Amino acid sequence: MSSPREQRLSYPAHRRLSGDPEVTDVTLRVIPQHPRQTPEPVEVRVKGPLLPGPVGAHLAVFDYNRDVDRVAAAAAPRRDGSFPDYGLDDFRFHQLNAYAVASRAVELVELELGRGLGWGFEASRLIVLPHAGYMANAFYSEETHSLQFYSFRQQDGEIYHTALVHDIVAHETGHALLDAVRDHYTEANEPETAALHEAIGDLTAVFAALSHAEVRSDFLRQAGPELRGSNPVASIADDFGGSGPAGRLSLRDLTSSRPPAAYAGVVEPHDLSLKLTTAVWQALVRLFQANRTGGDDPDEALRLARRAVQRMVVRALDYLPPADATFEDFAVAMLRADSFANPDDRRGFRSLVAQALAQGGVLPDPQGAQEVLERSAEPAWRDLPPAWPRLTPLEAYVLLDAHRRDLALGRSPGYRDFVVRGFDMTSKPPDHTTIDEVILVYEYPVEVELPRRFGSLAGRWITIWGGGTLVFDSDGGLRHHARKPVTAARIRRTLEFLASIVGTALTEVHRTDDDQLRLAAARRPYLAEVGPEGVAIRTNPAARCGARPPAPEEYL
Ligand SMILES: [Zn+2]
Repeated sequence: MSSPREQRLSYPAHRRLSGDPEVTDVTLRVIPQHPRQTPEPVEVRVKGPLLPGPVGAHLAVFDYNRDVDRVAAAAAPRRDGSFPDYGLDDFRFHQLNAYAVASRAVELVELELGRGLGWGFEASRLIVLPHAGYMANAFYSEETHSLQFYSFRQQDGEIYHTALVHDIVAHETGHALLDAVRDHYTEANEPETAALHEAIGDLTAVFAALSHAEVRSDFLRQAGPELRGSNPVASIADDFGGSGPAGRLSLRDLTSSRPPAAYAGVVEPHDLSLKLTTAVWQALVRLFQANRTGGDDPDEALRLARRAVQRMVVRALDYLPPADATFEDFAVAMLRADSFANPDDRRGFRSLVAQALAQGGVLPDPQGAQEVLERSAEPAWRDLPPAWPRLTPLEAYVLLDAHRRDLALGRSPGYRDFVVRGFDMTSKPPDHTTIDEVILVYEYPVEVELPRRFGSLAGRWITIWGGGTLVFDSDGGLRHHARKPVTAARIRRTLEFLASIVGTALTEVHRTDDDQLRLAAARRPYLAEVGPEGVAIRTNPAARCGARPPAPEEYL
């Protein structure tokens, strides 16, 4: 018999995290990177069983093309649950490819976080549209609960199906995963939050690509012994940028080395995301080089470096504030999460990562980074409810209410209303049997009126979210408090940012069927959604990941 405490801590292993015998893996084939560079599919395993579609626990492929109003025949499993080897031109192969890449990204994030995820919308499955229509684009749409992959004709005449490009499928899934963890991050009152969405998309693409042995060996060959060179893993969405003078262009190259100051004033989320992703890429390179110096062969050096950076990046998600996260919030979250996930850090990875992040300008300076590294968990809060760590939402609220003076509630914490937005327990990899952390997210809205300089938006109200994220260990020790109170400085920063994008990077939209308005919106990265109650500034999903706006002349 285990003690009551042990029973309380034993976590009912989540089906999707465990070797539950009811869950049978299914082997599928995917193009590991790009149909041109790596046309030969490789086998991967995903959690099954799968229904025709395919449809699984988290994802449902529905091959509907809105432009021609047609549903393509769905991939269907055989009696034993396996799928036929469809030809690469067969849309059913595309369906399975998109499903498998997205599904593996979900599994990777759930495994690292140590918890099952619910999506950032009110439904259990994310819909995947592998041939949504014709344009040079692909995006995650929270409103329609979907990942939409489009097809277009390239300059050389070939049809480019974005559902076949590993980077693109993984990137869009990364958006959906971040939205599942932090719902407010699709709001855009802070440019670095919009850029963080892109960064998580690109980093998901990097980790997903490096999960394939074939890609790793190509990568090591092309990037060279120091990993300094351009390579297909760090080039996100090869080909998508069209043809340039130097050949085909990718959308983004994480090996690029612009100085941090070059990002001042950049508001386009993809461009700004490179400030963070290039720093994380440098962290990966440094860990690889340290492992090589320590005597590892290139494969092993890469394996350990990738695993460490992947763990830091994914675990950071649970350490982020509820809204308006900055790159610094993320960098701190990476280091803090890792200091508990990997306390020994025998190879000194954390300090190498901290140096790379500081050099990339996403941590203030190496000394600030060192302070982040050295903090340990604070003592447990007093008055933990007897059921700790298994709280009801009411108990969670009562606990926070009793500590409201410690929370990020702004100037009058005694009077501030707040809600418990999130309550999650994580279990520790790799066996996921005991509770590792309890994560409580609390928040409150502050309405701010847009002043006269906002033209047609003046007099309308936006919502700025305040609150914080508390990460406790299973005994109630406080590991991290990501504080995000609404302060005068934050309101000022938001208004300055919004004023800087009005008329240039922001399109005002009312709910409309006007195509011209939608087309105009599609070119700009931010939307001001005007409703009866106020205006919400959001990133524009249709402009989010595409290289170009919808181009009718490229229709098939
Ligand atoms: Zn994106």
